[in-house]
Amino acid sequence: METKKCSKCKKELPITEFYKDKYRPDGHVSSCKMCHKKWAKENREVIKIRHQNYYLKNKQKINKRNNEWNNANKEHRKIYHADLYKKNKKRHNKLSKIYYKKQKKELPKQLQNYRKKADEKAINNLTDRYIKQIVRKQSHKELKFNEISNTLIKTKRLVIKIKREINNNK
Ligand SMILES: [Zn+2]
Repeated sequence: METKKCSKCKKELPITEFYKDKYRPDGHVSSCKMCHKKWAKENREVIKIRHQNYYLKNKQKINKRNNEWNNANKEHRKIYHADLYKKNKKRHNKLSKIYYKKQKKELPKQLQNYRKKADEKAINNLTDRYIKQIVRKQSHKELKFNEISNTLIKTKRLVIKIKREINNNK
């Protein structure tokens, strides 16, 4: 097994215990991973400043490289984002289904009360014009099945029945 002596702790260690560095003659950093980590921890500020300086000095080069990468990966990014959108859409649909189910469980009573009130109001306003409107809507199939409630239909039948009886008694 290939070994190397660490420049810091002076231990003879397997070469896999050293980070790779293509600029070094043997292709590895002079200190072992442990020593390097320790050094990096102790010199966090120094490293940060070094990186900042490197960026400032090589700003144009780095930006150019980033732009080139972005351009080269445009298609890839497009697909990636489209995929992400699809995934999120699926998730979103699932969540709204769960929400809908929950609402469905909790709402019926509230909805019934609302319906009842709406029916009462509709019955009070059960003018000929209103009935004509409903009938017209129905014949055009614009009406959704839940727009006419049973109470309303019953009332309508009753009105027709009364009118007929009045006519018969004339
Ligand atoms: Zn070491």
